[in-house]
Amino acid sequence: MVFAKMEAMGHEQVVFCYDRATGLKAIIAIHDTTLGPALGGCRMWPYASEEEALVDALRLARGMTYKHAAMGLNFGGGKSVIIGDPRRDKSEMLFRAFGQFVDSLGGRYITAEDVGTAAEDMAYVAMETRHVVGLPGRSGDPSPATAYGVFRGMKACLGEAFGDESFQGRVVAIQGLGHVGAQLARLLHEAGARLVVTDIDPERAQRVAAEFGAQVVPPDAIYDVECDVFAPCALGAILNDDTIPRLRCRIVAGSANNQLAEPRHGEELARRGILYAPDYVINGGGVIHVADEYGPGGYDRDRAFARVATIYDKVKAILAMAREQGITTAEAADRLAEQRIRAIAQLRRLHMPSRSP
Ligand code: NAD
Repeated sequence: MVFAKMEAMGHEQVVFCYDRATGLKAIIAIHDTTLGPALGGCRMWPYASEEEALVDALRLARGMTYKHAAMGLNFGGGKSVIIGDPRRDKSEMLFRAFGQFVDSLGGRYITAEDVGTAAEDMAYVAMETRHVVGLPGRSGDPSPATAYGVFRGMKACLGEAFGDESFQGRVVAIQGLGHVGAQLARLLHEAGARLVVTDIDPERAQRVAAEFGAQVVPPDAIYDVECDVFAPCALGAILNDDTIPRLRCRIVAGSANNQLAEPRHGEELARRGILYAPDYVINGGGVIHVADEYGPGGYDRDRAFARVATIYDKVKAILAMAREQGITTAEAADRLAEQRIRAIAQLRRLHMPSRSP
């Protein structure tokens, strides 16, 4: 069962971790380490079954391989999940036990916070291993970098769609005003865009409306908004059979992960003349930011943001490739990521004395 899944998706290693004393049940999935050590967050979730937890870990780890490759980072794809309810089951010892398992991999996997875990949990993990990033006092919250990357990628999309990269007077509809969405709203407002926003939390929507003069619509109405750009910054799978026919935008560009319900929805967007910025490329600012902890001298905010700015070039290259090869933008992103992995694998064929037995 497990090997069949690993074979189908190309994973290298899956580690099942159980600690009797704390009740820790965790799965660490390492997808591909051609580019470097596997890096990816630790999700804590009350999964209904072990199967569901495993599939989530495998899927997320694979996504990280592509994201790092697309960002030009020297990290592979990995992710871990802890089976449990983050509101009830967290403890210092649970995270320290998890940290010991991470440490046992000797740096093949580097962890970080993710859905259901927080920086303070990672501080416990760090008591047991140095293979953890995003701790308080280091790179910290990645969402400003993610929002900035989305902003830069959106700019590239405007150029492609309209032949004019300016945000002045453009209408952007933002779904979700959390960590990323609210900061994206600020950047867009400052650049002269008009905003239409929504959130299931009405207070968040009102705050953004008051601060940036945004128009608020109910959550379900966001798909019908006539706009230049639709920016999904809340949930995954929101580009599907029900929503795509309703869209009245020219571009989809937002931070949410796994926006396409299925790959065929990428084709459906293209068929309707809607330019789609592949999610793992445009939302890669967060991983660039956290990976900067491994740069010379440790984390440097200016260097990290300068690198996040290059998401503009990455999106541009993908849009050009899709146009020239007659493929969807999502396919172009995958091809570029796979090209980098192949190229680095070739490079590793050179024997270096440092790798002598
Ligand atoms: P968040 O939890 O801070 O914000 C999500 C917001 O969406 C919340 O305000 C929530 O109320 C709202 N929301 C949920 N369901 C909604 C719905 N149906 N309609 C409208 N609003 C809804 O999360 P975040 O950190 O801002 O991340 C947003 C998205 O971007 C997620 O998909 C996340 O996986 C992705 N992402 C985030 C980062 C990062 O650095 N934070 C990096 C890469 C990708």
